[in-house]
Amino acid sequence: MDVSVKTAFREEKMRIAGRAVGTDETIEVVNPYSGEVIGSVPAARPEHVRDAFWRARAFRARLTRHERQRILTGVAEQLAARRDEIARLITAESGLCLKDSLYEVGRACDVFSLAGQLVIQDDGEIFSCDITPQGKPRRIYTMRTPLLGVISAITPFNHPLNMVAHKIAPAVATNNRVVLKPTELTPLTALLLADILYEAGLPPEMLSVVTGNPATMGDAMITDPDADLVTFTGSVRVGKHIAATAGYKRLVLELGGNDPLIVLADADLDRAADLAVSGATRNSGQRCTAVKRILAVEPIADALSEKILARARALRCGDPMDPETDVGTVINARSARLFEARVNDAVEKGAVLLHGNTRQGALYPPTVVDRVPHDCELVREETFGPVIPIIRCPNDIDTVIQISNATAYGLSAGLCTDRLDWITRFVEGLEVGTVNVWEVPGYRIEMSPFGGIKDSGLGYKEGVKEAMKGYTNVRTYSLPWP
Ligand code: NAD
Repeated sequence: MDVSVKTAFREEKMRIAGRAVGTDETIEVVNPYSGEVIGSVPAARPEHVRDAFWRARAFRARLTRHERQRILTGVAEQLAARRDEIARLITAESGLCLKDSLYEVGRACDVFSLAGQLVIQDDGEIFSCDITPQGKPRRIYTMRTPLLGVISAITPFNHPLNMVAHKIAPAVATNNRVVLKPTELTPLTALLLADILYEAGLPPEMLSVVTGNPATMGDAMITDPDADLVTFTGSVRVGKHIAATAGYKRLVLELGGNDPLIVLADADLDRAADLAVSGATRNSGQRCTAVKRILAVEPIADALSEKILARARALRCGDPMDPETDVGTVINARSARLFEARVNDAVEKGAVLLHGNTRQGALYPPTVVDRVPHDCELVREETFGPVIPIIRCPNDIDTVIQISNATAYGLSAGLCTDRLDWITRFVEGLEVGTVNVWEVPGYRIEMSPFGGIKDSGLGYKEGVKEAMKGYTNVRTYSLPWP
């Protein structure tokens, strides 16, 4: 790939029921690495959002399962065929390195492909009723129907394509209509995906994409009378605002994380260090499930710290469009400054900076900090960048579990040990949605249930299968035959 090729400027319109809609006011999309303005999107007003919901609500989707499968599979094929072009767009608007963006396109491709395979499976159940003395010779059947109203979907910047895919593919699979508001920071990829869906045969009324400043049009997304369900992925702050504002609507909130990688005394330290560094730095550390704390028990902490440092030093941080780059930028210089300040604060409180913490604009390199006090801001809050903080813990399982649970978050955890008795205690004791043994906290397939508890979410899961269930109403009907 030629690193020097520039992304063409994209002056975009919204897609409201398939129509291109502009506004007088626009929002610029900036490449976080070069600072160049690479496109613009309209700044919607609340009436644009209302119009999108109204048009969606007025349309009754009646695609057969076969038609839905064809659309979903068609989108997966297009994503695969246009992988390089889409990855470059993700990189241009987010600063994620090409390696990360290419991986992301592959994941989104899986999402559409799996939704296409699941849609043809019947999801009904049958209950015979003559099974107790109170029973009767009847049967109860279940069927799942699309929501009566529209899905309101709001997505974050850190996976400009895949987070959108996880909202839309299950909606298409269940014959639902969606109004999507991608983040104002990376809206271009979402608009491109909408066009791919339309080209694959999706009736345009089933998907609108509105863009703009959340301060102006955010509440319209949350309170629209035709929105039956709000599905949101993003920060705890905004998630809690949505919970407080939405009223009588179904809510799916996939919020932040502060995931640990826990390394116990018996662990293979090379393997653990690989997981620590890749988990903390891939996607520039901007994953809800990135490794945000490494909990290392004292007997192995020195050796692990050395191995982590060697691996972090070997990573190439720089021009995101360079195919050799391992870590691109974070989303903007403001975020990078926050990480720098948090690392400095941790050092003031006794942590030892081993590598990094040298910021240049939005470029913030992998940064290794050892002996981090477990209650300082760097690891108590979600630090959404490529920081690799090592917290040294006493060699005692209960204390490690306690330290791990001591943040407000409860998304996922990774665990490095081969001892089944220890594994069992962690699986039982950790207050999280997922525990991965010998994997990064974020490991999953796009179909498996995914989501957190505590401040990370209300417990409703995403993943194609769960999202399809969440986007439907169960109707039961019974017939008078055994
Ligand atoms: P954010 O909360 O700032 O923004 C997310 C979305 O909400 C954006 O589209 C934004 O425009 C919109 N928004 C902001 N204010 C709003 C309002 N008042 N009303 C309606 N919409 C509003 O999050 P971000 O910075 O884009 O993303 C990073 C966060 O997302 C991190 O905390 C990360 O952990 C989290 N995240 C969670 C998951 C998960 O599955 N649990 C996945 C990815 C990211």
